[in-house]
Amino acid sequence: MSQKEMSAKVEPFAAVKGMNDILPPDSARWEWLEDKVRSLMGLYAYRNIRTPIVEPTALFERGTGQSTDIVEKEMYSFEDKLNGESLTLRPENTPGVVRAAIEHNLTYAGGQRLYYMGPMFRHERPQRGRYRQFYQLGAEALGFSGPAVDVEMMLLVHELFANLGLRNVRIELNSLGLPVERQAHRVALITYFEQQLELLDSEAQRRLHTNPLRILDTKNPAMQALVQQAPQLLNYLGDASLAHFDTVKTLLSSCGVRWSVNPRLVRGLDYYSHTVFEFLTDELGAQGALCGGGRYDGLFELLGGKPTPAVGWGMGLERVLELIKTQGQGSRVLVPDAYAVIADASAMAVALQTLQALRAAGVSVQMHAGGAAALGSMKSQFKKADISGARYALIFGPDELAQNAVTVKSLRDGSGAQVIQSLADVASWAPTLQSRT
Ligand code: AMP
Repeated sequence: MSQKEMSAKVEPFAAVKGMNDILPPDSARWEWLEDKVRSLMGLYAYRNIRTPIVEPTALFERGTGQSTDIVEKEMYSFEDKLNGESLTLRPENTPGVVRAAIEHNLTYAGGQRLYYMGPMFRHERPQRGRYRQFYQLGAEALGFSGPAVDVEMMLLVHELFANLGLRNVRIELNSLGLPVERQAHRVALITYFEQQLELLDSEAQRRLHTNPLRILDTKNPAMQALVQQAPQLLNYLGDASLAHFDTVKTLLSSCGVRWSVNPRLVRGLDYYSHTVFEFLTDELGAQGALCGGGRYDGLFELLGGKPTPAVGWGMGLERVLELIKTQGQGSRVLVPDAYAVIADASAMAVALQTLQALRAAGVSVQMHAGGAAALGSMKSQFKKADISGARYALIFGPDELAQNAVTVKSLRDGSGAQVIQSLADVASWAPTLQSRT
């Protein structure tokens, strides 16, 4: 079979549904965002943690919760072929971070402030802003029990959004109090819903005894009146929980951050306590949740560690980038400062050495590369220089080589101005090529 016949038989592959390639020039926006995140995390003294993408399935069953949508139906789980262990592609990263903190005793000498960025996997119905592989930025502060760190967590997100130029993002807050307080509320909630069983949809009926708090989260329009009237957790909080919540609200306001209380904002898991929050936008349709988080003082114990207070959040980076686009911020395209036009292969060694010297001086240069036999005409090389977006062409021609020099031609300002620069001291003129943006 000829090469052609062989390739004709192969259907091209496509990416898995709900999982996306991030391609140039779009990838430049991702890098820009990631750079902003890293420098901000440095300012808040949060340090990077990188945990495996695959974890034991049982970690999420315990740490995310059996009765959540994630564990009930969204996990990519598989069996390890060698030992039969059930493994899962992480659907979120808080359990992984807590597992690592316990395993390496990270909090032995005091609190730890950590952040991560990376892909998560959930088998959901793909739509705009909802994917099966998506990227989350998350932060976790481990070992701090007071309300101040809850506020620090929200300030961090607030500041990141401000740095990204985002507008109209609101913060909703609630307090889940302590487990005993939630237990009293849970009893009242079940009694209330049991009296109106006929108004509950099948999902709510199923959750009534496993996770009644989650019924408050329903999107079903027919149940809105019912959940509006339901007993509110805030009315079951004791003095200490109310004081924690009041301090969070007061400190946020004193930092100029606006918030509103949403009594129906819940995380239906027992290891959550006190503060929960969400950052939301109305500009992305149904997928308006940009970031969600809260205090999870019970999780360390649940995963076999010592009792350790903790608070964290997770943010969907696709949604953040989508909002940046929606709000009209220009796309960021990376272009090289210069493109090297090389007349003839005999100039290649000099050209390569010069480009190395320019790069060492901080100039971004794209080298012309041709086929095995020839580099292509000067005309076609100039066309490629133009397409590259570079502001300068560097011309390595025979005349230039004879003088140990290169011609620098301006491509973008309409002048077409050319100057000859000596190859003897590249570092002295390299800064004139550097982009100032
Ligand atoms: P969660 O862990 O469910 O609280 O999610 C935290 C954040 O991750 C959400 O506020 C979203 O911004 C984002 N997110 C969650 N699920 C998806 C998904 N399937 N696709 C894209 N982003 C998601």
